[in-house]
Amino acid sequence: MTLLAALRQAVGAAQVLTEGDLSAYELDWRRRWRGRALAVVRPADTAEVAAVVRACATHGAPIVAQGGNTGLVGGGVPDASGTQVLLSLQRLNRLRAIDAANLTLTAEAGCVLQALQAAAREQGLLLPLSLAAEGSCTLGGNLATNAGGTQVLRWGNARDLCLGLEVVTAQGEVWSGLSGLRKDNTGYDLRDLFIGSEGTLGLITAATMKLAPLPAATSTALAACASPAEAVALLGLARSRLAEALTGFELMGRFALELVASHFPALPQPLPGAAWTVLLECSDSEGQAQAQQRLEALLAAALEAGCAGDAVVATSLAQSRSLWQLRESIPLAQAQEGLNVKHDISLPVSAIAAFCAATDAALQQRFAGVRLVNFGHLGDGNLHYNVQAPAGADGARFLAEHEAAVNALVFDAVAAAGGSFSAEHGIGALKRDELAARKSPVALRLMRSIKAALDPQGLLNPGRVL
Ligand code: FAD
Ligand code: ZN
Repeated sequence: MTLLAALRQAVGAAQVLTEGDLSAYELDWRRRWRGRALAVVRPADTAEVAAVVRACATHGAPIVAQGGNTGLVGGGVPDASGTQVLLSLQRLNRLRAIDAANLTLTAEAGCVLQALQAAAREQGLLLPLSLAAEGSCTLGGNLATNAGGTQVLRWGNARDLCLGLEVVTAQGEVWSGLSGLRKDNTGYDLRDLFIGSEGTLGLITAATMKLAPLPAATSTALAACASPAEAVALLGLARSRLAEALTGFELMGRFALELVASHFPALPQPLPGAAWTVLLECSDSEGQAQAQQRLEALLAAALEAGCAGDAVVATSLAQSRSLWQLRESIPLAQAQEGLNVKHDISLPVSAIAAFCAATDAALQQRFAGVRLVNFGHLGDGNLHYNVQAPAGADGARFLAEHEAAVNALVFDAVAAAGGSFSAEHGIGALKRDELAARKSPVALRLMRSIKAALDPQGLLNPGRVL
C-alpha cells in the first residue's frame, strides 16, 4: 500500500488534504516560512494519531506536528521538499474532564487555549496560562514549546502547570501519563522530556493541567518609567508590596507603542510619549475595590521613590481589557510594519538595565537608524528585543543583509550577561544553528542521545531544534 493510501485508511480520505489552498498549514504566522507538505493529515483522536504515525514509520516519512500554527520560530510548518506529512492536531479538541476538587483539567492537544480558560472559568477556576495568541494557539502547541506568556511571574510557564501527558511515540504507541498527581517520583520524568521538545520526540495528544481558584478580582494599571532601570526598581517595589497578588508585569518601549498607535489608532493610549510604559496587574481574593486600592497605593509609593511617573489605574473591566490590548497588539503591529529581527531573550532581572543601555548603543553604532521594538515580560526577565529596519528601509532586505550580524551582536551580549537566546518561543528552524553553536558539547551530546533513543528513525520534525 502507498503511504497516501495508508494515511487515508487511518483517518478517512476526507481528512487527507493534498490539493487546493493549504497555506493555513504550510505558511507560518509570521509569513516567513512557506513549505509544501506531502499531505496534510487531520486525525480525530489519539488512536488515529497513532495509526498515522505507524503508517509514516513504515514508509519512512517525516512528520511535522502542528496545532494552531502560531509558533514564531518556523517549527510547525513543513519544509519545501514536499516529502513531510503535516499532522494537524486541531481535531483533537475535546475537553475530557475538569476535576474541581483536585484542581485539574484534562484536555486534548488541539483544544484552543482560550476555550480551556473559559471552561475553567465557568466552574470558578483559573487556568493560569495566557498569551496574546490564546485565541488560536492550542494546548499541545503550548506544551510542545513550553510557552510562557504574561502570568509566568506568578504561575510559571506551561511546564510548571502540567501534571500529566498522553503522547504518541515515534513508533506509534500511546504512552498514557495523564495523572493529576502533584507528587510522583517513579523513575525518569517522561512528561518533562516531551514538554518543550517542539514535536521532535513525540506527539502530545492530551494533557492534564493545574488549575487555581479564580481570583475575586483583578485590576490593571499603566505606569510611565524613564528607563529600564526605573522599571526594574518598580518591579522590586511591586513584588515587595503585592507579593503573590502581582500577576502581571509587562514592559513596553516607546517605539513598540508608537507602532501600535499607527496600526491600531482606535486603541486609547493613556500615557502617550512615555519612554517606557509598564503594565501591572494585581489579582485580589477580596474584591475589585481592594485590587484597585492596592495598585493605587503602590503607584503612589513608586512616585515617591522615583521609580515611576504618570500612572493610570483601570476603573472598569473594559478599561483593564483595553490596557492589556495595548500590550497584546504589539506583535500584530510589528507584523504589519514588516519583517524584523526577532529576539526572545531572558536575562537575570538585575542585568537588564545595563544590558539594554549597552546593547541599544552598540546596535545604533553598527546599524545606524535601526528601530528597537523592545517589550516583554519584565517580571520574568524576558524581553522581546526586536530590531526593525530603519524608517523607510525594506524589512526583508534588511533581514537578508544584517540578520546574522544583528543576532551575533545581541546574543553575544546576552551570553555575557548570563542570559538565554531563547526564553519562551523555542528553537524550531530559526535558532537551530544558534543552539548548536552556543550550547555546551555535553548538553548537545545528551540531547542527541535522547533524540536517538526516542526517535531512532529521525522522523519527528527533522531539522528542528537539533
Ligand atoms: P504550533 O505553532 O502549531 O506549533 C509550535 C511547535 O510545537 C512546532 O514545533 C510544532 O511541531 C509543535 N507542536 C504543536 N503541537 C504539537 C503536539 N500536539 N505535539 C507535539 N508537537 C507539537 N509564546 C510564548 O511562549 N509566550 C508568549 O507570550 C507568546 N505570545 C505570542 C503572541 C502571538 C501574537 C503569537 C502569534 C505567538 C506567540 N507565542 C508566544 C508563540 C507560541 O509558541 C505559540 O503561540 C504557542 O505556544 C504555540 O501553539 P500552537 O498551537 O500555535 O503551536
Ligand atoms: Zn512573549
